[in-house]
Amino acid sequence: MSIGITDLLPDELAEALELKVYQARQLFRWIHAKQVFDLNAMTDLSKSMREELRERVTLPQIQPVQTLDSRESEATRKYLFELHDGATVEAVAIPEGERLTLCLSSQVGCAVRCTFCATGLSGFVRSLSPGEIVEQALHLLHGRDLRGRTPNIVFMGMGEPFRNYDAVVKAIRMLMRKDGLNIGARKITVSTAGDVPGIERFSAQKWQVRLSVSLHAANDTLRSELVPLNRKYPLARLMDAVRAYCDAAGRQVTFEWTLIQGVNDSLKDAQELASLIRGLRAFVNLIPYNRVDGLTCEPSSPEVCKAFAARLEAAGVNATLRRERGGDINAACGQLRARQIARPEGA
Ligand code: SAH
Ligand code: SF4
Repeated sequence: MSIGITDLLPDELAEALELKVYQARQLFRWIHAKQVFDLNAMTDLSKSMREELRERVTLPQIQPVQTLDSRESEATRKYLFELHDGATVEAVAIPEGERLTLCLSSQVGCAVRCTFCATGLSGFVRSLSPGEIVEQALHLLHGRDLRGRTPNIVFMGMGEPFRNYDAVVKAIRMLMRKDGLNIGARKITVSTAGDVPGIERFSAQKWQVRLSVSLHAANDTLRSELVPLNRKYPLARLMDAVRAYCDAAGRQVTFEWTLIQGVNDSLKDAQELASLIRGLRAFVNLIPYNRVDGLTCEPSSPEVCKAFAARLEAAGVNATLRRERGGDINAACGQLRARQIARPEGA
């Protein structure tokens, strides 16, 4: 069976491919630090070794099949990748001033099925392997002029990362390696819809990787409607887990709140959120809703978004209102793929 080499750390590469450790490290460095996928180009490996490897490995495991650039001055670029079994996932590179954010997928589809989300709408297909996750970042960075920026990574693409916990953690370890992309833990954020066992495991990790919790509602009735996972892990349990996370490591948590017109954007909602998170070392990210084909949710108006943010600030909550990015390229993850799937064969 062919080996997906981006699934493996250098020590594992050495064992699986019977390489010396230094050779495995060279191979890892070519792929992860230099984003080279062509074995022929790995000139410090002997020709015979490269030929032998070609017989035994799959590289790369994912192929970009479509890219879309937004009309902004430095474009947000969205990629659709095809996996070896024909499944597809999306990832997005978002430049913003001094920052370059890479938004990665962890699963094909998502079983959580939030009512406003394009990925949830398409159902769940399968989880990604560590290599399929890391390769998204490698492709997004390949040939890109970073202009001195170190990228941030957010697991805010398709899928619920804590439903694919081990692969996501391994992918993060690879992204952080000095002989790989060398991305600092504080520059990586995992976003969860509120999977409590995942948050508990994550709290026990000895690292500074950031946690973001997609809240969207601060009472159980509304949250269970928007994020069905809330029926299993209601707010009281979720907030206990988040509190333990903050206590265990003295870390700050981010809450995501997607503002949907007439659903969760009133001043009362803002007040409820402020009360729920009072006393926590927390930060709130307000995201204007991105319209999705086939769903009736609408974004809140800019005035309503601003008033919501102002009410949070007045209640002593640190909140940022994000600008919608890449709206013209369906930047809300899951949408490009949803269109591809909806398109009739050959169109
Ligand atoms: N499953 C994880 C991570 C992927 S979703 C989670 O839910 O946190 C990443 C973020 O995008 C979540 O906060 C999610 O609620 C939000 N989101 C999903 N669809 C959206 C849309 N159409 N417009 C704006 N935000 C959306
Ligand atoms: Fe899944 Fe996150 Fe979309 Fe909910 S918002 S369906 S958890 S990807």
